[in-house]
Amino acid sequence: MADYKAPLRDMRFVLNEVFEADKLWASLPGTQEVVDPDTADAILEEAAKLIEQEVAPLNRESDEQGCQWNDGVVTSPEGFKEAYQAFCEGGWNGLGGNPEYGGMGMPKTLTAQVEEMLQAGSMSFGLAPMLTAGACLSLDAHGSDELKEKYLPNMYSGVWSGAMDLTEPHAGTDLGIIRTKATENADGSYDITGTKIFITWGEHDMAENIIHLVLAKLPDAPAGPKGISLFLVPKIMVNEDGSLGEHNSLSCGSIEKKMGIKGSATCVMNFDNAKGWLVGEVNQGLACMFTMMNYERLVVGIQALGAAEHSYQSAIEYARDRLQSRSPEGTQNPEKAADPIIVHPDVRRMLLTMRAQIEGARAFSTYVAKWLDIVKFSDDADAKKEAEAMVALLTPVAKAFISDKALEVTVAGQQIFGGHGFIREWGQEQLVRDVRITQIYEGANGIQAMDLMGRKVVANGGKFFDVFANEVQAFVDANADDEAMEEFIEPLKSELDNLKSVTAEVIAEAQDDPNAIGAAANDYLHLFGLTAYAYMWAKMAKVALANEGSSDSDFYESKLKIARFFFQRQLPATRALSVSILAGSDTLMSLDADLF
Ligand SMILES: Cc1cc2nc3c(=O)[nH]c(=O)nc-3n(C[C@H](O)[C@H](O)[C@H](O)COP(=O)(O)OP(=O)(O)OC[C@H]3O[C@@H](n4cnc5c(N)ncnc54)[C@H](O)[C@@H]3O)c2cc1C
Repeated sequence: MADYKAPLRDMRFVLNEVFEADKLWASLPGTQEVVDPDTADAILEEAAKLIEQEVAPLNRESDEQGCQWNDGVVTSPEGFKEAYQAFCEGGWNGLGGNPEYGGMGMPKTLTAQVEEMLQAGSMSFGLAPMLTAGACLSLDAHGSDELKEKYLPNMYSGVWSGAMDLTEPHAGTDLGIIRTKATENADGSYDITGTKIFITWGEHDMAENIIHLVLAKLPDAPAGPKGISLFLVPKIMVNEDGSLGEHNSLSCGSIEKKMGIKGSATCVMNFDNAKGWLVGEVNQGLACMFTMMNYERLVVGIQALGAAEHSYQSAIEYARDRLQSRSPEGTQNPEKAADPIIVHPDVRRMLLTMRAQIEGARAFSTYVAKWLDIVKFSDDADAKKEAEAMVALLTPVAKAFISDKALEVTVAGQQIFGGHGFIREWGQEQLVRDVRITQIYEGANGIQAMDLMGRKVVANGGKFFDVFANEVQAFVDANADDEAMEEFIEPLKSELDNLKSVTAEVIAEAQDDPNAIGAAANDYLHLFGLTAYAYMWAKMAKVALANEGSSDSDFYESKLKIARFFFQRQLPATRALSVSILAGSDTLMSLDADLF
């Protein structure tokens, strides 16, 4: 496996050239004092150094070792504890956190790049800071001042980590049926009792304390999702003066043996009258969790992107080294027994598929991050409202489309290694196994697709969709007379028209057919994703065209060539998806359940 090298050139391209982050940051009241291009660049350089040197080298061995459970105590793989300490000492845990409580207040557009590096270095390791950052976000948005003061500083510093406890053995997607109970005490605290499963880093030895955010129901709560409340439950009780007290009544019953991300602990957590405190309002737990989940969902897409990038870095190194057969164009390497496999069109197809998807995903996740920054930092009510619509619409696409494609990308990376891709020591099979979870957790991809089609498109009659479509249309119109852009603008325009018409048809279909949304959802999400990537690639091509012949012309030339590959070889998949969507739900529902 190639040593991971953070793709800083491409990150700078997306951030500075495609999305002009400097202008965005300077325009937002919350970021103009905090970050400028030089600070951002220094952050990217430092993060790259730490992750390349301290985190990525642990990835392979941590997969072999896994975590160890012994009588409730979980030991992380060798080196994780030291790397976690180095990560926290560098202040990375609080990079995007609220400065009032010790966070650095950096915008998502920037933290997204650091997250990609971290997840590319090691998904297993990266999950600990990722869940802590998500828990902090939820606490910061919904917790009382007292809870925030008591917990956030130590979570931003990483001395304490965060975990998110939603899933129960019988309740995953449908959290409305959870059974964990909360009863109120006279002092305003709550006793929490129940069992949670699949809790990532729910127990470990890297931090002094673990702060669990737990979903539970009060005795008189309404049935279903409207009766869920959110509680903060520390592993070790925190005294009034901030020092650590007794162990709370919770324990890790076991850890799972699993397909991938083996270096992370996936815990069964038992709460037995554990003491907790309410976060947000009673029965508003799901809404509070969604604050965290919107953020987490983008990061899950970014996780998948990181794994895909790492796979590409190994694949391209291998494709240059591995000698097999001669080029169809004639011998390229006469002094050797065979030519490197990169000469073969089919190997190039796989490499280019990887590049087109990875760079499309990097641009798209940064684009979504831009909207998250506007929601968080803007003081312009209209801009905020527009950004909220974009975040709502695009988040399920970022989570599910990037992760679906990342599995294809890592499989292509494995395939380029031939038989060696199947052998553990090369690392490619680990990336395939690791990335697979990104399609499942934080809401399975099928559920993300239903969220996009149902709640974000059909439920509001396409109002959010129009915000996106109008932006793409404006880009098409603004570039209509640019001859050099014609090869990108023409297909983008036609894809946008197609997406608009398919969207209108599904909205109409859903009025009479209760199965219409579920039947269209997965293909619609992929159609949307491809069209959104076409927009991203057209934006990237525009910057590349403007820089042709510059001192870095190889970089921009490559961008244009990959853009052409995307438009000619990947985008046409929209046709098959559209036909499938418009076929409706009949064929899906006509086979009797007993006959399956
Ligand atoms: C390694 C790992 C780490 C995890 N980390 C955490 C964590 O830190 N915290 C936490 O709380 N949870 C965590 N999870 C749980 C994870 O989020 C859930 O597994 C996931 O949300 C799916 O729930 P489920 O497994 O119960 O599947 P189910 O809900 O039983 O779903 C099974 C299948 O049915 C489909 N399905 C269900 N309902 C519908 C519907 N209405 N329409 C269409 N299709 C539907 C789903 O898409 C899925 O394909 C983790 C899981 C794993 C494996």
